[in-house]
Amino acid sequence: MTAYRRFRNVIRIGPVQVATSYDGRGRDKHTAACTAPGCGFAADYDTRAGAELAARTHRCKA
Ligand SMILES: [Zn+2]
Repeated sequence: MTAYRRFRNVIRIGPVQVATSYDGRGRDKHTAACTAPGCGFAADYDTRAGAELAARTHRCKA
């Protein structure tokens, strides 16, 4: 993940954090990232709903 991204609207669903950031090309992107050590799940979505759904349904391997 890029350190320079500005995340906003950060929420936590279980071990997964969902945040919205500006992608630098005029659009928002939505990221779901698991904070559990050793899991490493992180993905970007076009919609906030998609990212939140992914967070809710994430099955943590860690
Ligand atoms: Zn996980």
